[in-house]
Amino acid sequence: MNRDDFPILQTEVHGQPLVYLDNAATSQKPQAVLDAILEGYTRYNSNIHRGTHYLSQQATMRHEQARQTVADFIHAASAREIIFTKGTTDSLNMLAFSFGEAFIRPGDELIVSGLEHHSNIVPWQMLATRKQAVLRVIPLREDMTLDLDAYRAMLSPRTRLVSVAHVSNVLGTHQPVEEIIRLAHEQHIPVCIDAAQSAPHMPLDVQALDCDFLVFSAHKLYGPTGIGVLYGKQALLDQLPPAQGGGEMIQHVRWSGTTYNELPYKFEAGTPNFIGSYATGKALEYVQAIGMTRIAEEEAALARYAEQQLVEQIPSVRIYAAGQAKYGAISFNVYHDDKLIHPFDIGTLLDQQGIAVRTGHHCAEPLIDHLGVSGTVRVSFGLYNTREDIDRFIQGLKRAVRMLS
Ligand code: PMP
Repeated sequence: MNRDDFPILQTEVHGQPLVYLDNAATSQKPQAVLDAILEGYTRYNSNIHRGTHYLSQQATMRHEQARQTVADFIHAASAREIIFTKGTTDSLNMLAFSFGEAFIRPGDELIVSGLEHHSNIVPWQMLATRKQAVLRVIPLREDMTLDLDAYRAMLSPRTRLVSVAHVSNVLGTHQPVEEIIRLAHEQHIPVCIDAAQSAPHMPLDVQALDCDFLVFSAHKLYGPTGIGVLYGKQALLDQLPPAQGGGEMIQHVRWSGTTYNELPYKFEAGTPNFIGSYATGKALEYVQAIGMTRIAEEEAALARYAEQQLVEQIPSVRIYAAGQAKYGAISFNVYHDDKLIHPFDIGTLLDQQGIAVRTGHHCAEPLIDHLGVSGTVRVSFGLYNTREDIDRFIQGLKRAVRMLS
């Protein structure tokens, strides 16, 4: 799909045409996004907001249009609920700090799941330490699904917030966030969804989901690095204090004290990445022109094909969450005579054949510990990947396994 729009895919690596299967780490950028970055700096570069002059107004208009594009993309009720951040990690840290200041007291409880990315663990651990709160973890069942009975039993009047991944960055599996949100809301507990790995792969509707917060990064969604989104329901964001102080987030500053700006600016201290937001808007327009439903269907079919090829062609492959639908990523290990072939060695031999995959703990050490290994090989897909890419990967993997056996 639309491969030619992505110039980097023409790259040769070690004399071979690149097969890029590391999209869960970051995606490649279409020409429309590259053009927007150049155009932004060439034609509209000027600091935004309160500028009386032409260029500042042009840049401000584009930044705010991009905010509306993001709001439409996730179907938020208002662009005021869209806060531009540096990325998913920044969004989660801001939320943990701000929510913690407003709502967390000693003995309160926070819930995450056993398959989270470190970004959705460490900020909550830091908050728990700061406020003498308790971080609880939804355990995984044998089949790598979340134990919702345990989750139900964990929810209590002490629970203040639940934060879970929509799609696992290791397993590629879709988590039952609808049920997680419904159960939390029965007890009026807000829920944050880490959509870093779902936003690039499926349509999102924050109002249908009824999540209270949702976070994602532009760079995994064909947009630029250094920019992401924190969505929050306005009624909740209004109750949270700013996470950072500085320019733009204020209404008035006096030595006697400062009053804060309205949403979303209250959370956007300092000069924002206004070229990044413009380019992010272009990335979202690009995927919307294809259609997120179509992207989801085609990537799901590709993941099914890849998993089937792995099972059929690689003896002793162990796929994690085997047989479950995958959204953008598959993790596996290969064994020889019951001994694990080190994922790093597989990754290195694939790289020599021009095939980019990721190996290791994927910033999810608690999950990798649970799998009982030191790491996995992860292949992850984007909208430009094809069956030919999968075939080259499987041929490359067979070669690597032969050499390492
Ligand atoms: N959460 C998940 C599920 C992720 O996959 C990632 C990126 N690997 C992050 C959070 C962190 O995203 P970023 O590095 O863009 O802040």
